[in-house]
Amino acid sequence: MITIAVANQKGGVGKTTTAINIATAMAATGWKTLLIDLDPQGNASTGMGVPASARESSSYDLLVNDVALRECIQPTEIPGLDIVPATVDLSGAEVELVAVDDRTARLQRALAGHVGHEICFIDCPPSLGLLTLNALGAADTLLVPLQCEFFALEGLSQLLQTVERVQQRFNADLGIIGIVLTMFDRRNRLTDQVADDVRDCLGNLVFESVIPRNVRLSEAPSHGMPALIYDHACAGSVAYMALARELIARLPEKRKAA
Ligand code: ADP
Ligand code: MG
Repeated sequence: MITIAVANQKGGVGKTTTAINIATAMAATGWKTLLIDLDPQGNASTGMGVPASARESSSYDLLVNDVALRECIQPTEIPGLDIVPATVDLSGAEVELVAVDDRTARLQRALAGHVGHEICFIDCPPSLGLLTLNALGAADTLLVPLQCEFFALEGLSQLLQTVERVQQRFNADLGIIGIVLTMFDRRNRLTDQVADDVRDCLGNLVFESVIPRNVRLSEAPSHGMPALIYDHACAGSVAYMALARELIARLPEKRKAA
């Protein structure tokens, strides 16, 4: 299984929207896909149509209670896409794990040897705390949603420093599969300027596909479904399908034949 952390310590940059829709796009392309909600806000779980009352075992159980991964996985409405939901308990995990020896390796251990899925996306919370460190410890690579706004590059350099530290301390092989520009508005000159700066700085690391600001993407979660299901033809859905194609082309190893 290839594990991809969707991370950026800034809130509201499109992590959850990206995690939900890229996971759906991968499942639609025939990949057995797992989505792990690692944000105590549980937006990915809600957005996938898993109500709080249906979250029996969660990412909290996985991290803190040593519950086996297979017991925390539940199916979604989408064929080929399963989820480990998040509950509010998870907000306590940062504190509860502080005193634990292998506190940054909990998720890595929980995922080790899992064979039921080919690809896994982890939706990270908006911080660089223990939850995100667990995701970076468990991940093969990182997908970074970046909103084209004035401080975008500053936030990014902080994230890249964290990645370097993780590589030095506990996950030497952690890669960055790419940066995706989100909520892009071509009529806004600042957005355009930031996008140019980011591409100048980071070159090929930035995906060609850009996710436009699209109201359908923001409406879909309130219907408990990915935009790709809610309106598969909207500009946002089309962009996420294109991103999935680019992602597949960048994946380090080809999918094993079924
Ligand atoms: P994060 O997980 O980084 O906090 P979200 O994915 O939850 O960010 O996005 C923040 C808000 O912006 C949500 O209300 C979401 O529906 C909305 N949103 C995300 N991406 C887009 C987009 N491309 N166009 C319009 N709204 C978006
Ligand atoms: Mg989120």
